[in-house]
Amino acid sequence: MLDPGHNPGNSSHTAEINRQVDIGNARKECDTTGTETDAGYTEADYTLDVSRRARAILTARGATVAFTQDGDRPWGPCIDERARAAADAHADVALSVHADGAPASGSGFHVIMPAKVVAGKADNSAIVEPSHRLGLLLRERFHAATGEPFADYIAENGLDTRSDLGGLNLSTVPKVFIECGNMRNPADAKRMTDPQWRQKAAEGIADALTAYLTSRD
Ligand SMILES: [Zn+2]
Repeated sequence: MLDPGHNPGNSSHTAEINRQVDIGNARKECDTTGTETDAGYTEADYTLDVSRRARAILTARGATVAFTQDGDRPWGPCIDERARAAADAHADVALSVHADGAPASGSGFHVIMPAKVVAGKADNSAIVEPSHRLGLLLRERFHAATGEPFADYIAENGLDTRSDLGGLNLSTVPKVFIECGNMRNPADAKRMTDPQWRQKAAEGIADALTAYLTSRD
């Protein structure tokens, strides 16, 4: 399951995406608009493009790839629905594609892995360990494919663990997020706006998923 973060239509559906949803240990907005580069290239367009490129690579390798959204709905889905989608599709693994909107001085990519959350309707304890394995593979393969450095403004050596993301709290399928770079940083924005770089980003993501799915331990 590939989960292209946000939706190009979210910005014109603020009432729908601001609705609060239950993520187990808190309530949070259904979804957000995401960020964009200073020139106006949106995270939603970026995540959809990279996910489609990754799907093409993975499909050619024999994988069955599903999307939480494929630019085929006006907004969303909400984060709880995104989390459920992987289980509903009986997916072996799930990956959310994002880009960050941090202060301009920061650059680099990072991978977000689930902290164990057992609260309310959330219980992701079964996915913490396999998601960590996926996270390490993704950090390695994304860096190898793109040359993008580990984030210098967040996470530690490109890895973060969080308990405040509905998409990870509510998942019952091994899952991580990748923040491919900081769209507010000029150098990262230049790379992310380049289709050739996005192809490399997609290759890194596809390589990590391929390695995960073919090296079960
Ligand atoms: Zn995002």
